[in-house]
Amino acid sequence: MLLGILTIRIANSNPLYLFKMKLLLIEDEPAVVSVITRGLTEAGYEVTVAPDGATGLQLALDNRTFSLIILDVMLPALNGIEVCKAIRREEIATPILMLTALGTTENIVMGLDSGADDYLVKPFKLAELEARIRSLLRRKSNTTPVINSALLQIGNLTLDTDTKAATRAGNNIQLTATEYRLLEFLLKNPRRVLSRMELLEQVWGIDFNMNTKVVDVYINYLRKKINKNNQPELIQTVTGLGYMMKENNEDTA
Ligand code: CA
Repeated sequence: MLLGILTIRIANSNPLYLFKMKLLLIEDEPAVVSVITRGLTEAGYEVTVAPDGATGLQLALDNRTFSLIILDVMLPALNGIEVCKAIRREEIATPILMLTALGTTENIVMGLDSGADDYLVKPFKLAELEARIRSLLRRKSNTTPVINSALLQIGNLTLDTDTKAATRAGNNIQLTATEYRLLEFLLKNPRRVLSRMELLEQVWGIDFNMNTKVVDVYINYLRKKINKNNQPELIQTVTGLGYMMKENNEDTA
């Protein structure tokens, strides 16, 4: 009983006041390491540094108590994309913030497709890095555990993966097989930018030389069905990147 009360109190408090959150920084440039480490230590985090991709991956696999991983893309031994993919292959769900020197859409999409949760283009301000970290940690703690794993939900939209029934505000939605697969994938990946290519691969299972326009077409079909009766938009367009399933009022900083 006592233990139960204690657990609730801890869960409702800001964890920074109780223990230092551990972050893993995988970065090879000493100047960048020094600035980030100093800044984040001052902000109350405990930072472990890995100077190359292989060491970073090993640390992430061996020590699963990190709250977040900051991962540079251009790294010796193993690049950041490979490290990210390897971490996700091991089903480690720790939020990953990728640092990229190349801010092109192509590079950002590659990072997000490899399993990163967010990215920051170099050079960046320390304050921005800290804000992104807070946002990712908040997102992680906001993820409501799904008690009935067959039921996927966001806002007032639910999808029962056993009966394949979709409802919005209690009203049934009739979906085609493709619309169902698309909605299921979106609901299984809330608050994540999903590129058209990723959606194409995951939902249609065809190679990505296929025109990604088909994704936009089906997103529109889905929107028409789930937004009936003026329900607010849940499938957000992320300009130049893809789509994100989230309620409009959620923070995406
Ligand atoms: Ca680097």
